[in-house]
Amino acid sequence: MLKVLKFGGTSVGTLDRIQNVAEIIKNIKDDGHDVIAVVSAMSGETNKLIEYATHFSKSAMPHEMDMLLSSGERVTSALLSIALNEQGYPTTSMSGRQAGIVTDNAHTKARIESIDTTNMKQAISEGKTIIVAGFQGISQDNGRVSTLGRGGSDLTAVAIAGAIQADVCEIYTDVDGIYTTDPRIEPKAKKLDKISYDEMLELASLGAKVLQNRSVEMAKKLNVNLVSRSSFTPEVEGTLITKEENIMEKPLVSGIALDKNQVRVGMYGVTDRPGIASAIFTALADANINVDMIVQTVGVDGKTDLDFTIPTTDWEICKEVMQKFEEDAENIDYNEAICKVSIVGVGMKSHTGVASKAFTALANENINIRIISTSEIKISMIVEEKYAELAVRALHEAYNLDQ
Ligand code: ASP
Ligand code: MG
Repeated sequence: MLKVLKFGGTSVGTLDRIQNVAEIIKNIKDDGHDVIAVVSAMSGETNKLIEYATHFSKSAMPHEMDMLLSSGERVTSALLSIALNEQGYPTTSMSGRQAGIVTDNAHTKARIESIDTTNMKQAISEGKTIIVAGFQGISQDNGRVSTLGRGGSDLTAVAIAGAIQADVCEIYTDVDGIYTTDPRIEPKAKKLDKISYDEMLELASLGAKVLQNRSVEMAKKLNVNLVSRSSFTPEVEGTLITKEENIMEKPLVSGIALDKNQVRVGMYGVTDRPGIASAIFTALADANINVDMIVQTVGVDGKTDLDFTIPTTDWEICKEVMQKFEEDAENIDYNEAICKVSIVGVGMKSHTGVASKAFTALANENINIRIISTSEIKISMIVEEKYAELAVRALHEAYNLDQ
């Protein structure tokens, strides 16, 4: 098999940790696989480099920031290559350029345009293990070093796996996979063996720390089998994130996600006229505010109520935007003490009674649901924030996720 492995900042955080990664790669090589390893900078290193730049300028030229930040990953790739080579495993390190990664010209947040795999294929055919510096490429017009945005090494790994048609792309971090819910909230949470791309994207609040959302989207697009696993416990299998078709036994519900960073905006007594929703949500979209759930009640006497949620980070801008609509409503209020709990599972597409079970579980705990929204594979509920953990545990239990 050809495996692309990606090691995050903590996994290569010290020289000992780099040695540990070398051991993991050795074992995989000894099993007869070809390996392309993509590495992050040692943890804290990218932040340190940003601080260095800030010492001279608060608005450094983006292409110079890229030149600077890309060095963190190059250090790790060379060190890991040296470590492995020393133990008799032929290696070659590669910068983004050497790995053939071409991006657009958006320095510090570049997108990968293409990957020329010639160099990598050549090295593999020579039996070498390739260690690629993650998070970087060269921009297509000016040939300068570019970087892919924070956390971008995941993207490097997935993009390479897609371009070279690797059998698997394993993302090593300090957690051993994706759980049915946050184990700090529900200690009975179980590690999932398999999960579909779409479920993973919906469970982002559980996995955001583990897998960058952009890279899951790219894996889905390029059909790359992703595995989330830990470099601290490499003997543990991890979670496979794959096409829905590859999951034979589809659980009704795969996991419970919690998002506390939500604010509910309530507009009461809104003049019920055509175009009001369009006006409000266009204004919010123009301000780049990510509106999540929207509920409008049936109008009575020409008035209606409109509720929606936004990320807490957009709260201030949202208030500014909403000033324009003060005339259109009797009252606008904001409630930050809420959270969104979601149950996610591909199996619910073809089953009835999934939603009612959730509502009953919360009712049994006397938790009031303020807003409900559903999609094919997700049911989200807004509840008071003080019930967040209780709601998660009740739902986890209702769908027997601890079994
Ligand atoms: N070193 C970069 C960062 O800290 C990229 C990465 O680790 O994926 O954001
Ligand atoms: Mg990372």
